[in-house]
Parts: sequence; structure tokens; C-alpha cells
Amino acid sequence: MLRLEGVTVRFGERAALDAVGLEVRAHETVCVLGPSGSGKSTLLRVVAGLQRADTGRVLLSGQDQAGVPAHKRGVGLMFQDHQLFPQRDVGANVAFGLRMHRTGKEETGRQVAELLDMVGLPDARRRAVASLSGGEQQRVALARALAPRPKLLMLDEPLGQLDRGLRERLVVELRGLFQRLGTTVLAVTHDHGEAFALADRVVVMENGRIAQTGTPLEVWQRPASEFVARFLGFDN
Ligand code: ATP
Ligand code: MG
Repeated sequence: MLRLEGVTVRFGERAALDAVGLEVRAHETVCVLGPSGSGKSTLLRVVAGLQRADTGRVLLSGQDQAGVPAHKRGVGLMFQDHQLFPQRDVGANVAFGLRMHRTGKEETGRQVAELLDMVGLPDARRRAVASLSGGEQQRVALARALAPRPKLLMLDEPLGQLDRGLRERLVVELRGLFQRLGTTVLAVTHDHGEAFALADRVVVMENGRIAQTGTPLEVWQRPASEFVARFLGFDN
């Protein structure tokens, strides 16, 4: 589904991504873990087409994405600060995710209702976003990101601002939702507990490089380096 080959992104002297190779298979959930500044968001931005790679290739379903603009890549991206429109109601925010499809009013209404059901907010449609709790807003952002039915859904710290209890509940719900929909997911988090609960595979990043890839159990039981062991042990 997604393949990165030798992707390097430099900002001045510094490589935010340094020859990164990565594969995400269809229907798989992969979580990217790593300390602040290790290149996690840059990785998502390159795949989304919001950041150009200096070298290397990004392939989606076997197609080289060089020169393909963000809105033609068929990927959804949900940012950490979810960027909802606080003054508009929930329905309008979710419908914004459907704008590319130019669906009629009735069909839009039907799809918005279905998406809100999916994220567990069936009655929130007419509410102003600003009146929702942080967790509810995250769900609205997720419904909006799912609206265009992206081939690949990318989440940057999707549960970042929530308290631990809510995060743990939502992670379980998300995993179920992605399995039901068969969505392919690439998600970024600082939190290894969250990554291990959500992911089929985790990718640990260190200074723009991939330090280890494996199932949660493999990485947990056999960290590939001192760095990975320390990151798993002491972060959080
Ligand atoms: P965090 O966990 O804090 O979100 P991250 O792993 O997402 O960190 P990135 O945002 O990918 O890290 O940044 C990787 C490195 O690239 C950092 O050193 C950052 O300062 C640098 N960087 C990212 N974007 C830019 C930019 N537009 N201009 C200059 N440097 C940048
Ligand atoms: Mg980031």
C-alpha cells in the first residue's frame, strides 16, 4: 500500500529524515514512535505531499508520488491540533471532509450521520464544536479525516491532548473501528503504551532514522539497541 525508499529530508545542515525505508501493507496499522524531533511528523508530511523529499521515493499502491499534489494522493491526515472550525457545528465540520466528492445535500447528510455513528457521536450533529469536550472534538476530527474514505489514514498524535483514561478507551475503540473498516493506518505517537495497543507493527525513530521495526511484542521483548531500550523504559 505505502512504500518509502531512501527518503531524505534536509532542513539546512540537519536531516529530519535520513534515508528512511518503510512499508505499510494494506489493512495494517503501523505506529511511529520516537522522541520529540526524531522526524515523525516530517514522515507523515512527506507521505501526504505536504513536504518534498530531497531524495528517495514515496509509492502509494505501487505509484511513485513525485509531483502528485496532496489532494490527489488519496490519503487522509489528522493533525495533533485537529484544526476543527470551532464556531461551526459538528455536522459542518464532518461535511468539510466530504467537500472533494461534491456529493448532493441529502447524500452528504446521510454520510455525516454514518460517520458520527462510527465515532460514537450519533447525536452531536447540531452541536457547536466549541461546546464539546476534548475527547469529543478528537472524535469529530477523526470522522472528518475518515469522510473521504482515504486509502491510507495518517494520524499525528491523534489522542495527544487527552487524559490517560480517555486515551486508553479511545485506543481500543479506534482499533475496532479500523479493523471493521479495513482502513490502512499510519499513526504517530510519543506514547509507547498507546502505540502497542493500537499497532500491528511499530516503527521506532531516532534522529531521522528508523531504529527498529517489529510487532509490539518483538520490540518490547528484544529492543534492537540501547536507544530503543531506553526509550521504551524511560519515556513516560
Ligand atoms: P514532535 O514529537 O516534537 O512532534 P517530530 O518527531 O514530529 O517531533 P519533526 O516535526 O518531524 O519531529 O521534526 C524533525 C526535525 O526537523 C526537528 O529537528 C525539527 O526542528 C526539524 N524541522 C521540521 N520541520 C521543519 C521546517 N519546516 N523547517 C526547519 N526545520 C524543521
Ligand atoms: Mg511531530
